[in-house]
Amino acid sequence: MEDAKHIIGRLAPSPTGYLHLGNAWSFLLAWLSVRLQGGTLYLRMEDIDPARSKPEYTDGILEDFAWLGIDFDGDIIYQSKRSDIYEEYINRLSAFIYPCYCTRKELREMAGAPQSTTPKIMTPANRLIMPDTGAIYRRSCRFLTEEQRAQKQNQNACLRLACPPFDEREQEKIPAEIFNLSPDFFFDDLVLGRQHINLNDCGGDFALRRSDKVWAYQLAVSIDDMLTGVNEVVRGNDILTSTPRQLYLFRLLGKTAPAYAHIPLLLDNAGERLAKRHASLSLKALRGKYKSPAPVLQYLAEFINIREDISSAKELLTILQNSGHSSFPWHVLTKLGSAVRTDFQ
Ligand code: GLU
Repeated sequence: MEDAKHIIGRLAPSPTGYLHLGNAWSFLLAWLSVRLQGGTLYLRMEDIDPARSKPEYTDGILEDFAWLGIDFDGDIIYQSKRSDIYEEYINRLSAFIYPCYCTRKELREMAGAPQSTTPKIMTPANRLIMPDTGAIYRRSCRFLTEEQRAQKQNQNACLRLACPPFDEREQEKIPAEIFNLSPDFFFDDLVLGRQHINLNDCGGDFALRRSDKVWAYQLAVSIDDMLTGVNEVVRGNDILTSTPRQLYLFRLLGKTAPAYAHIPLLLDNAGERLAKRHASLSLKALRGKYKSPAPVLQYLAEFINIREDISSAKELLTILQNSGHSSFPWHVLTKLGSAVRTDFQ
């Protein structure tokens, strides 16, 4: 019999605000899945944006995890310390990268009708998910001549990744095995089932470094998942349209992509997805209100049909193990639909 694969997952919070109940939900599932499989779980602080990341949020996240009983393995990985690595990968990908001088205003104007910019992704269960992808980029800077680039060299540029389909003009520099790559990406999501998403429906050529020189989420996440051997990613389904972009980066670098579980989002009573502005549902506020994490864990456990008394994440894990689960029963989430409203207070 083949040895079972060693699972490597990650918790990847952005310390740009306090975590909320929705984050607890996705981190709890990521933790449960890895722990059920006896895997390794890294904590990666996605503090890539220096203007928005704050040490008090990093501290808050660590306190939230300790309170919930979500533990992790090894040293914390800080994206802010990994610039040299991202730089190296930008160089490796240089055949596919071009500077883009478009301003935000130009991008908005180019994008045209706002409705056309939001892909409608049908899941196998026929549910409609409409994650935000931003405007579709019309490749305006992709085919600038060297002379045109030289004229613009004093302007701030972001670095964009050229996505398929490739153009004849690019044939010389693009490796043959990539040149005919289709923009259609397919993967089997652990929750949503078979997915087929076209890169161009996700905005087309995307930025790897912003014009203010901040590394883009897509680059940092893909490189870090790749270099730390992550083979299971559990995250909110609002990020679904990032996945083909990350699959593309894995493909360009010749690496196997992780398995993905895109989980249902938690919404507030008005149907808005939980965000940092929902201060009363921040874990910091909930820690202050309830000494024990039990009410939060019990509330979240009900979404996965567990109604026993639970006072710690460990107890939840034990309940799943005792009912014979050696991996997370993702199909339970499939039944929840793409989002669930919460009335938790
Ligand atoms: N830091 C990202 C976020 O908080 C992580 C997304 C991911 O899991 O890939 O949205």
